[in-house]
Amino acid sequence: MLDADFFRRWMAATAASVDREAERLTQLDSPIGDADHGSNLHRGFAAVMAALETEAPDTPGAVLVLAGRQLISTVGGASGPLYGTLLRRTGKALGEAAEVGVEQFAAALRDGVEGVKKLGGAVAGDKTMIDALEPAVNALGDGFAAARQAAEQGAEATIPLQARKGRASYLGERSIGHQDPGATSSALLIAGLEAAAEG
Ligand code: ADP
Ligand code: MG
Ligand code: MG
Repeated sequence: MLDADFFRRWMAATAASVDREAERLTQLDSPIGDADHGSNLHRGFAAVMAALETEAPDTPGAVLVLAGRQLISTVGGASGPLYGTLLRRTGKALGEAAEVGVEQFAAALRDGVEGVKKLGGAVAGDKTMIDALEPAVNALGDGFAAARQAAEQGAEATIPLQARKGRASYLGERSIGHQDPGATSSALLIAGLEAAAEG
């Protein structure tokens, strides 16, 4: 079973990897975006960690709803409302249980991904975070390591795609040949689950 501490560790692991990879995320956002993805997420996850410390939510759902709210209010870019919706919607689906099973979490995360698709209008293959998140959710039944691998493969598979959503889509065919920054940060988020499970 996964408790509030597990979800706190998930956010902490993601905040740490976003810190570590901020430069790379911003570099990926340079040729096909506006070179701010790393700094956007760095700011967002710093706010998430600060809020988790001051408000100390005590259920899995409350941790994720709070985290999502922080991302929406502190990340200026497109990714803030999208990641915020992902976490908030996932948290809402978990309800008020003190502990949740992995299957329940997988179903909730699927809800979250549906929320992102609805808000942003992207489907798989549009060269967005969905290209990492959707395969990860589909692989989650096989464990956190399988989900991480699926997300990483999904992020790499965005390289030959032409962007159809977000800033990168303005470039048309010139968006081909670059890895999507949001799919890359989504792989970091999913990798955080494995780190959280290791304690
Ligand atoms: P901005 O483009 O506003 O500067 P960021 O650089 O923080 O925002 O985030 C860019 C990422 O957001 C993209 O790489 C892509 O993965 C994701 N993204 C943008 N628009 C959408 C959308 N409509 N649906 C899903 N993901 C999107
Ligand atoms: Mg950007
Ligand atoms: Mg921007």
